[in-house]
Amino acid sequence: MMNNQGRVTRIAASDAAVETFTGNRALMLEEPLLFERGSLENCGVDLPDVPVVQDRLAGLGRARVIGLPALSEPETVRHYTRLSRQNYGIDLGIFPLGSCTMKHNPRLNEKMARLPGFADIHPLQPQATVQGALQLIDTLATWLKTLTGMPEVAMSPKAGAHGELCGMLAIRAALEARGDARSVVLVPESAHGTNPATAAFCGYAVENIPANARGRVDVDALLARLGPDVAAVMITNPNTCGLFEPDMIAICEAVHAAGGFVYCDGANFNAIVGRVRPGDLGIDAMHINLHKTFSTPHGGGGPGSGPVVFSAALAPFAPLPFIRKVKDGFELVEEMQARQSKDHDRSFGRMVAFHGQMGMFVRALAYMMSHGADGLRLVAEDAVLNANYILASLKDVFTAPFAHTGPCMHEALFSDDFLDGTGLTTLDFAKAMIDEGFHPMTMYFPLVVHGAMLVEPTETESKASLDQLVGALRSLAARMLEAPDAFRTSPHMAPRRRLDETAAARKPVLGYRDAA
Ligand SMILES: *Cc1c(COP(=O)(O)O)cnc(C)c1O
Repeated sequence: MMNNQGRVTRIAASDAAVETFTGNRALMLEEPLLFERGSLENCGVDLPDVPVVQDRLAGLGRARVIGLPALSEPETVRHYTRLSRQNYGIDLGIFPLGSCTMKHNPRLNEKMARLPGFADIHPLQPQATVQGALQLIDTLATWLKTLTGMPEVAMSPKAGAHGELCGMLAIRAALEARGDARSVVLVPESAHGTNPATAAFCGYAVENIPANARGRVDVDALLARLGPDVAAVMITNPNTCGLFEPDMIAICEAVHAAGGFVYCDGANFNAIVGRVRPGDLGIDAMHINLHKTFSTPHGGGGPGSGPVVFSAALAPFAPLPFIRKVKDGFELVEEMQARQSKDHDRSFGRMVAFHGQMGMFVRALAYMMSHGADGLRLVAEDAVLNANYILASLKDVFTAPFAHTGPCMHEALFSDDFLDGTGLTTLDFAKAMIDEGFHPMTMYFPLVVHGAMLVEPTETESKASLDQLVGALRSLAARMLEAPDAFRTSPHMAPRRRLDETAAARKPVLGYRDAA
């Protein structure tokens, strides 16, 4: 059945094992759009008639109702609860989305973030009334600087990609300050897609550096390309193949000798936290995804937070505001004060309206303090152990393009070569995983590998949970090779079948057209 926008709202008889009157399948309930369900007559409140008023809009007043989807309270609760049951989340099961670090968000963090002293404050409150919040941000900043071995941190960026923008703006400011008009940013193929996007957004020409057969940046190609036009190199480490880039120190030395800066995409810091300090490798700027490494909810669960650590060379160009310890407490240094100070007068300015994501700062610090320094090191070790368990358990049935180079870091990379001859691809495999009750892994990324499947189990999965995933993936692989036709239309049991994702992206229906 279609709604008035051509969207399927009911499962067609041929798709369902059993056709039901309601379209529901057992406890999986169908749910139309809010606009299809509600109407002003059913809003659950009896509003008095609007008295006749004198029209002062010169006839421009709205002539007909705007079609608000009014519902009663129980209908509203059911609508959103039914929709939420069609979703998959980290609290339901393993979420093996590579590069995204979908790990358990400890409830202790939630409890801390809801303390009224953190949750109910306003960014425009007088600083004397929010000293605890300022101290918390300062303490978190100290942890981040200590863990990374970097002297400065900007707390305000609101996501990983926003942090990249912050780091690249500081690099641009540093180059401009010395009158150096460099125009090129080098980005290895194994970098995250946000890296070239950020460099282009900052006005740089982006040049790719190839990956070598070991899934790492081709260092010779990188060094050969360095020169007076290269502003920076953006390297993701551990990279998007889930591998550590072992030549960082040599790369940083060469880039610095050529007058450029090194930006490191640190979104995968969860693989090395407590084991490697990026400052020791020589990098100049790196963002940290609090919502990945430090376990604050993301995706549908909450906003991100992407603080950026800086080397001494870039520290003077870091953005505002920042928090400074003063005689009897903490102060938030804003634009005007900083411009008049000696050490921050070259800041590139402000990135966000206020001071960053306070709720995420609380969660991240609660996570750090409850783990302690030794616990954070274990986080990285267990994340790497779990990913290697996946790699070792699947490499005989899947194609693991870099398994010959040794263990992986926090995620295991496969390609769909094992499906050759079946006409099935990574996409079919991912859709088949939905019928097994799993959120699919990351697909077709990184681009270095054809038909990539990137599995990041994270350290919060038990061995039993990993064994169940491995069992399901091995079973799927065997069944797909044996009877491929059954999988061309997977998923068969999900609330929605294969959607036309291209049409959804290219011709999205974003508004509701009033049927009347
Ligand atoms: C997630 C991720 C990003 C982007 O972070 P957002 O918070 O989604 O903007 C960048 N690089 C890598 C390697 C990532 O995994």
